[in-house]
Amino acid sequence: DILINQIAAGEVVERPASVVKELVENALDAGATRVDIDLEEGGSRLIRIRDDGAGIPGDELPLAISRHATSKIASLDDLEGVGTLGFRGEALPSIASVSRFSMTSRRGDAAHGASLDVDGGRVGAVTPKPHPQGTTVEVRDLFFNVPARRKFLKAERTELGHIEEWLRQLALARPDVELRVSHNGRPSKRWKGESDLLSDVRLNETLGEEFARNALHVDHAAAGLRLHGWIAQPAYNRASADQQYLYVNGRAIRDRSVAHAVKQAYADVLFHGRQPAYVLFLELDPRRVDVNVHPAKHEVRFRDARLIHDFVYRTLQGALAETRA
Ligand code: ADP
Ligand code: MG
Repeated sequence: DILINQIAAGEVVERPASVVKELVENALDAGATRVDIDLEEGGSRLIRIRDDGAGIPGDELPLAISRHATSKIASLDDLEGVGTLGFRGEALPSIASVSRFSMTSRRGDAAHGASLDVDGGRVGAVTPKPHPQGTTVEVRDLFFNVPARRKFLKAERTELGHIEEWLRQLALARPDVELRVSHNGRPSKRWKGESDLLSDVRLNETLGEEFARNALHVDHAAAGLRLHGWIAQPAYNRASADQQYLYVNGRAIRDRSVAHAVKQAYADVLFHGRQPAYVLFLELDPRRVDVNVHPAKHEVRFRDARLIHDFVYRTLQGALAETRA
């Protein structure tokens, strides 16, 4: 079983940033309003994620770290309209099979907290441990027992950069959640929880003043589709595609067809070879999009990709044309 989990880890756990992603998504699925992220050595030595979410009863800790145990969907029908970030029940067992892992948690209604250690996939016993309501997961020495993978970890700065990039992506989608990050014992980033709506302040803190100043707000709905967010005016274009954020029903994804639609919309106002910057949220009926395409869930499949492409293109093209009129 350890081996099966380690093989699955090959797909889910690419590097420290993928661990941060899976653990923070679990915290959000548990309803956290604040998530603390403590890192050491770019996450390769330590990743500690603490949340104030619902927590897990002590006797369910072993279930949480066993394969395909998810509390989030009960049937294939649920998968059609999945509203949580996780649903495959493989992140925790995968991560725990390639690290020194511990999970400590307390539900609001429980008198005591409880903790469970897993060492390279070997599961220990549940022991009582004090903890405020919520959950703390610690992942130490990622890939310590898979030298071939450990060897491929990059320099501390590089791994930290990947984590920070993912956190920026999250900070844009979840302005209601407070995020605190520390690295090697020093506070490195903090986003205060605001409202549900992405504000100029958070936009500013995340993508910089330049972006915020040049950002054009869009919000358009038709045919059961809604596209909202910010696109930078063509004057603020970039040499690289580093500020292109697309979310589908709150989930950050990469999609060639939508990216193409955005690019097309800019094509007649931008110099060839320059890159637009944007933060766009596409909302649609979850049954019109399949999120279960890849274990890491970076990609989705639209039921009517052509319609969505054209909707995005027309919405943005219209907004950009107005600025030139
Ligand atoms: P998934 O997120 O796909 O359900 P995971 O392996 O990531 O699978 O997590 C397994 C289960 O453990 C979740 O379904 C959830 O019930 C529980 N769990 C994990 N992390 C947390 C957390 N931070 N707070 C509360 N419950 C959690
Ligand atoms: Mg999960």
